[in-house]
Amino acid sequence: MAKHAVLSHDVIVVATKNAGKVKEFAHALQKLGKTTASLLDYPQIPDIVEDGDTFAANARIKAKTTGDALGVPVLADDSGLRVSALNDEPGVYSARYAGEHAADSDNNEKLIRELRRMQGNHEIADLGELPDGSQLLSKAQFVCALALYDPSTGLFVEAEGTVDGVITDIPHGTGGFGYDPLFWLPELNRGMAEMTKEEKQQISHRGEALKRLLPLLEQA
Ligand code: IMP
Repeated sequence: MAKHAVLSHDVIVVATKNAGKVKEFAHALQKLGKTTASLLDYPQIPDIVEDGDTFAANARIKAKTTGDALGVPVLADDSGLRVSALNDEPGVYSARYAGEHAADSDNNEKLIRELRRMQGNHEIADLGELPDGSQLLSKAQFVCALALYDPSTGLFVEAEGTVDGVITDIPHGTGGFGYDPLFWLPELNRGMAEMTKEEKQQISHRGEALKRLLPLLEQA
């Protein structure tokens, strides 16, 4: 059966400059015997304007821009956090929630500030607290859209994954990146940032999207 062209490459280019994502992809792709390269290795590629309305649209923009520039198949991830109490924001704006080039810590502080303000105004449901006293502020979902683009055919292979959790007002753990310290997994009774890379990959939105994408590449 024919396989996707990307599987004939030892190095897979992932269209991101986010060091947290790079580490997670490197961990996942290493199990397939592949090495991961990222936009951090190709500084000549200019910043990509992510102006899509959806995670999937932005993933396609990143994969195509980078794939056309490098002439090799490229995998892109667009991901973010949907917070129920904020009508699913910050969504596609997750990386810039606290402003253009915001640090993860700025985004996290803004999220807690906003949800605490709503809690103070009784604008959100009381979800209770954890044994350590941290408040459960809002249900939330991480979403990851993956797009693999092959410039030799112009075709995309795509997959999406999600994971449900709850935002807490106090960070748990120091692993992961982005909003992980605020993302609590009630079913596992652990925070996303308390997991190892391997554990996060088993249950995360990115792990889920990869699990869906990889079989499609075997049949491409
Ligand atoms: P993107 O690079 O435009 O896709 O932005 C993704 C943003 O969503 C990141 O900067 C993080 O703030 C957030 N995000 C995506 N995936 C994760 C994750 O696995 N953990 C925590 N935050 C994430």
